[in-house]
Amino acid sequence: SSDAHRTDVVIVGAGPTGLFAVFECGMLKMRCHVVDALDMVGGQCTALYPEKPIYDIPAHPSIEAADLIDKLAEQAAPFAPTYHLNQQVEKLTRTDEGRWLVETNIGTKIDAQAVIVAAGAGAFGPNRPPLERLDEFEGSGVFYMVRRRQDFAGKKVVIAGGGDSAVDWAISLAGLAEKVYVVHRRPKFRAAPESVARLDALVREGSVEMVVPYQLSGLDGADGKLSAVRVATLDGEEKALPADALLAFFGLSMNLGPIADWGLGLERSHVAVSLPGCGTNVPGVFAIGDIATYPGKLKLILCGFAEAAQAAHAIHPMVHPGEALHFEYSTSKGVPGAA
Ligand code: FAD
Repeated sequence: SSDAHRTDVVIVGAGPTGLFAVFECGMLKMRCHVVDALDMVGGQCTALYPEKPIYDIPAHPSIEAADLIDKLAEQAAPFAPTYHLNQQVEKLTRTDEGRWLVETNIGTKIDAQAVIVAAGAGAFGPNRPPLERLDEFEGSGVFYMVRRRQDFAGKKVVIAGGGDSAVDWAISLAGLAEKVYVVHRRPKFRAAPESVARLDALVREGSVEMVVPYQLSGLDGADGKLSAVRVATLDGEEKALPADALLAFFGLSMNLGPIADWGLGLERSHVAVSLPGCGTNVPGVFAIGDIATYPGKLKLILCGFAEAAQAAHAIHPMVHPGEALHFEYSTSKGVPGAA
């Protein structure tokens, strides 16, 4: 279609894997357009845990999620990707030329030789606790993520959940907040053993108060201002915890959204791909990162990076047919603009 941008590769999703795919494609002389539903790049890293350190990025013993994203964007920048933010890719159709036309909900059209779906958890959102009056306090007293740790300084905070987020934020806010409660319906946490041990130590010191086995039962407050979080045991014994904020960490609900309608082979809400190359059942359409699945898949950023390289190499012959791809290291090739 004539009003469409024309490029080599469209990347659906600007999370860490989508950003690195720009670099990998760029190294193979393929231009990219990147679309994301959020108003910023970085996917889960920027939307859910920008200030959290990540410890398993190779060669970074510790790096905050937002810094990782800055560096990935910087690494992609020499290849001049075009970003289309704040819009969701809705349609994917094959063109008469055998290329792909990608269309967003606000009418952006991109015509490309190949598509890389790097859509993470899809249109993701937090699992919300089933509490009355929840919407009265959402955004003012009830949160599903921490954008700025400092917002909770001197506050009474109730953290609910039994996974890594609950444990990590309890550790991080202990000492900063006036009071930290951790509410979980079981005494056991499903989190990294090292973190659980740190939390136990904070509980022994009195910096964190454990509220187990309890679950959330209600919210008290007025005019959008939270004053207490009510919790109850399975037998219905209830108590109120004085609170300025509730941080509820019950995981993300994965929702493929429009991606489910593109004819891609799916497996339990993920896009099935085959290795090598991360191709889907639809020729020219690839999937990488959290949304992609294959036997042995690990949902880790570092695996998404490798999948981005795989997809770029698989796409190269479609964009540059007949051109031999001599495998080269980045050290011998350099990147555009680099001295
Ligand atoms: P995402 O980061 O999910 O990005 C996908 C993007 O696609 C999103 O921005 C979304 O808006 C966009 N999108 C989806 N559908 C569409 C559409 N139709 N149109 C336009 N845009 C769309 N991993 C680690 O390796 N180490 C860790 O220590 C670690 N800690 C974590 C801590 C927390 C609290 C969380 C929540 C996750 C953690 N992870 C960690 C997991 C890691 O964040 C993910 O593996 C990673 O973000 C996946 O990257 P991605 O690029 O595949 O997808």
